[in-house]
Amino acid sequence: MSKSEVVFISTPGSIGNLVPLVEFAQFLVNHDPRLHATILIITMPQRPTINTYIQSRAAASATTINFLHLPIVDPLTEDEYQSSIAYLSLLIQKNKLHVKHALTELISSTESNPVVAFFVDMFCTSMIDVANELDVPCYMFFASPATFLNFMFHIPVLDAEISDDFVDLDTELTIPGFANSVPPMVLPTALLNKKGDAYACYLAHTARYKEPKGIVVNTFKELEPHALYTLATSDLPRVHAIGPVVDLNGVAQWQNPDRYESVVKWLDDQPPSSVVLLCFGSMGSLNGPQVREIAFGLERAGFRFLWALREPPKSNVYLPTDPTNVDEVLPDGFLERTCKLGLVCGWVPQVKILAHQAIGGFVSHCGWNSILESLWYGVPIATWPIYAEQQMNAFEMVKELGLAVEIRVDYREGSKIVMAEEVERSIKRLMDGDHGVRTRVKDMREKSRMALMENGSAYQALEDLIEELLPKV
Ligand code: UDP
Repeated sequence: MSKSEVVFISTPGSIGNLVPLVEFAQFLVNHDPRLHATILIITMPQRPTINTYIQSRAAASATTINFLHLPIVDPLTEDEYQSSIAYLSLLIQKNKLHVKHALTELISSTESNPVVAFFVDMFCTSMIDVANELDVPCYMFFASPATFLNFMFHIPVLDAEISDDFVDLDTELTIPGFANSVPPMVLPTALLNKKGDAYACYLAHTARYKEPKGIVVNTFKELEPHALYTLATSDLPRVHAIGPVVDLNGVAQWQNPDRYESVVKWLDDQPPSSVVLLCFGSMGSLNGPQVREIAFGLERAGFRFLWALREPPKSNVYLPTDPTNVDEVLPDGFLERTCKLGLVCGWVPQVKILAHQAIGGFVSHCGWNSILESLWYGVPIATWPIYAEQQMNAFEMVKELGLAVEIRVDYREGSKIVMAEEVERSIKRLMDGDHGVRTRVKDMREKSRMALMENGSAYQALEDLIEELLPKV
């Protein structure tokens, strides 16, 4: 059978962008056997974890998805960029010729299998040029929430209207897609100061957001009705809310299986909903004094815990690592005193852990994949954002949707430390509080599953998208 080819490219080195993009590709080809997917990979040798993921994923999906590794470009020098977003944007841009070559080959080698779409992600906007040159319909895959997509569209307007740095503003902002006014301090760190290449990068990307034919967002109507309605009624590319797309196998298949088994064995021995998971994303790590305050807070709260503790990377091009000696970063005697109460480990297979019945709460950095995963399993979150768009996600979860308990919505590197008393109070509120969050999260769990069922909102959105993608006969 001849198949229509859908091609994808994701920001290199970003688990949070790549994993849902791969899942979405799998979703498409599973849903309609007339489709086949090719994912173009820009390799980032500094992030080997991701390369391991790609290898295992490629083996698991060999018949439906082709992973095509682009040639490695010359390494960037430090005078070419200041921020990690500038590094990534430049790296992506330097791959344009390779991408053009790969896409041209795909087009000419598969005449009976037309290339029907090229999906770029939120920071791969330079690839829109390649799609245009080769006359391939270009779409965007957006792995963050619909509120953040509204915000991205609005950045050029804010930039034109407000000359001050956002960090200096003392008024809240009106942003389409948000029902509440938004405090400037929940904007991404990259945007707080106008000087610097991170701000310029965001502006350059968002300036191109109206160009794709459509934008696929990993969200669903029942979760973000207001933000999606705002997008649908604006003069913007059509938005397809096809989520939640979650990799339910998670990282268990591409990280140390022995460690995973020992953690699950420990969880099996804990009562239902009794354990709080603390995990801060693929790029999240906290400084020594903050780690100590969390430890004291956990001890005082007295709830069972599983803590994915990671050490800061050597530079922002690398990812955090598992601590070589946890004893060194934790308060004296902490591990002995809490040995019956909790486990401290490095990277955990988060999605598998959230699925475990012993988990009753999640202190999360509020990456969008983590939020979707916790909603899928009905686990309430306490918000502790660190980087990227997580402060806005935390604000949305707490203030807009009432689906999370607030620890902080504006925490970031360099913020005032969250003291042990506050950690203790928040964990007690998360695990025991009478605030309605747990009930609303359980309700959203059902809605997230229904969205994907036949005739659910996301199912319908996917059908409409496929109808648009496939050549008309
Ligand atoms: N993750 C994991 N174990 C960890 C940290 C992260 O499995 O110790 C997974 C998590 O389940 C999610 C992804 O990595 O699927 C992180 O994506 P998210 O959007 O939440 O945050 P990011 O890492 O992109 O900031």
